[in-house]
Amino acid sequence: MLIDTHIHTKRCHHAEGDLEDYIIEAIKKGIKIIGFSEHAPLHFDLDKRLTQEESIKYLKDINRLKMKYKNKIKILAGFEIDYIEGYETQIKDFIDKTNADFYLGSIHFISLNEKIFTIWDYKEIQHNKILQHEYFRLMIKAIKTKLFNSISHPDLIFRAGFNEISFRKNFEQIFKELVKNNVCYEINCSGMFKTKYNPQTDTMDVGGFFNKKNLFKASKLDVQFTIGSDAHKIEDCGKGIKELTELVKLNKLKVVFFKNCKKQEIKI
Ligand SMILES: [Zn+2]
Ligand SMILES: [Zn+2]
Repeated sequence: MLIDTHIHTKRCHHAEGDLEDYIIEAIKKGIKIIGFSEHAPLHFDLDKRLTQEESIKYLKDINRLKMKYKNKIKILAGFEIDYIEGYETQIKDFIDKTNADFYLGSIHFISLNEKIFTIWDYKEIQHNKILQHEYFRLMIKAIKTKLFNSISHPDLIFRAGFNEISFRKNFEQIFKELVKNNVCYEINCSGMFKTKYNPQTDTMDVGGFFNKKNLFKASKLDVQFTIGSDAHKIEDCGKGIKELTELVKLNKLKVVFFKNCKKQEIKI
């Protein structure tokens, strides 16, 4: 069964297509469960996310579409929230107010010496051990808040050009915290297709940063997974999900989704 629970729309101002475009595309591709995970409001980076008002409208529109397509596809409403240390109360307030089906927690921003770095500063990340350490420290803190159902693309740091063994120890600790706090690891299919920083040539190379070994290790430690394409374009809805589904079946990974923040196990 195909499931995609990480989708963005034009509502975040850096993606294409609206809710219904993705629903129609998902049905066309045989996807049975689609989950929207629009970027939640934040006190900065305002031009790449929803406002508080837009978030309410977004939920209202998804609810209407849930009804309209109820015989064709299961639709879930979620948010991708940037975890920022010290803003836990604001995040909790947002969650209480929106009451969506699921919440993904992301580490996209790392604050250091009064400067905010992003995970897209690949060169900085590659060369700065403190930033690398902060990435994992923040992720552990995010997991321990128990505010999120799943951590989106925990392997995103590999996009900065590291090899698989560089962070084995850090990830083992992440896996343990995920299990302990009952939080999932999101398998983000965009990692199969996105470029990866090459520190030797200082270029972004094709080939992706998707980390299979991480999945097997996590699974052995009883980590559960959510799945998403991280589509920002209609045609990317479900991209990579079929290949991933094969991998999931072969390796018996436990895949779940969340409805009203309650975990539902599914047979893939
Ligand atoms: Zn985005
Ligand atoms: Zn995303």
